[in-house]
Amino acid sequence: MEAAEMRQRWCEVLERMAAAARTAGREAGDVRLVAVSKLHPADAVRALYEAGQREFGENYVQEAEAKMAVLPPEISWHFIGHLQTNKARNVVGRFSLIHGVDSLKLARSLHDRARAMDLVQDVLVQVNLAGESRKSGILEGDLPPLAEFLAGSAHLQWRGLMLMPPFFDDPERARPWFARLRGLAESLRAGFGLPLPDLSMGMTGDFEAAIEEGATLVRIGTRIFGERDTN
Ligand SMILES: *Cc1c(COP(=O)(O)O)cnc(C)c1O
Repeated sequence: MEAAEMRQRWCEVLERMAAAARTAGREAGDVRLVAVSKLHPADAVRALYEAGQREFGENYVQEAEAKMAVLPPEISWHFIGHLQTNKARNVVGRFSLIHGVDSLKLARSLHDRARAMDLVQDVLVQVNLAGESRKSGILEGDLPPLAEFLAGSAHLQWRGLMLMPPFFDDPERARPWFARLRGLAESLRAGFGLPLPDLSMGMTGDFEAAIEEGATLVRIGTRIFGERDTN
């Protein structure tokens, strides 16, 4: 895709995000766009960076590292993919936010790495609200020990929750899951006395519904960059 067309699509997404925020009586500035650049070249990221976009989402560590090496250090990278415990050392300190923490084991290795590097890493917990098999995310019932670990970790800053709902091409079917994630965040805030300000939910097919239900971060790829090569 031409850079000009990509920028046009990016502007349209920002306008739709702002309109959805207004519909819900929220400020446009309360919702940030994570432009999901996985499987798109570094040049595509650069084109949007030059237009003013600063936050980009990547799913694969090696691909992200290759882009980081050639792109401006001002970019804030989000790790939104599934993370294996043995890859923890590759992401801590390199991504501004890790969206997919979904087990105590993973949280422990992220914590250990962050402590060894003497830094604090921002993370979100990905929840598998629908209990879908083969989907990443922690089951709601398994949350308490993970939540307790994160609440007590001096090296992981727990920022909130992330969701990949079922039916993410149909906003009205996804909407109840967004509302449920917001409710879960509210009860965790009350239970742990933590701010947990962020809800990462909403993609190309459903981001307006997600914003109306309280998203603070939307992760949008296809609507901006076009279809990904999935061969
Ligand atoms: C790929 C991906 C997205 C972006 O999806 P689009 O439908 O292309 O907007 C968002 N979140 C996660 C976790 C992804 O893997």
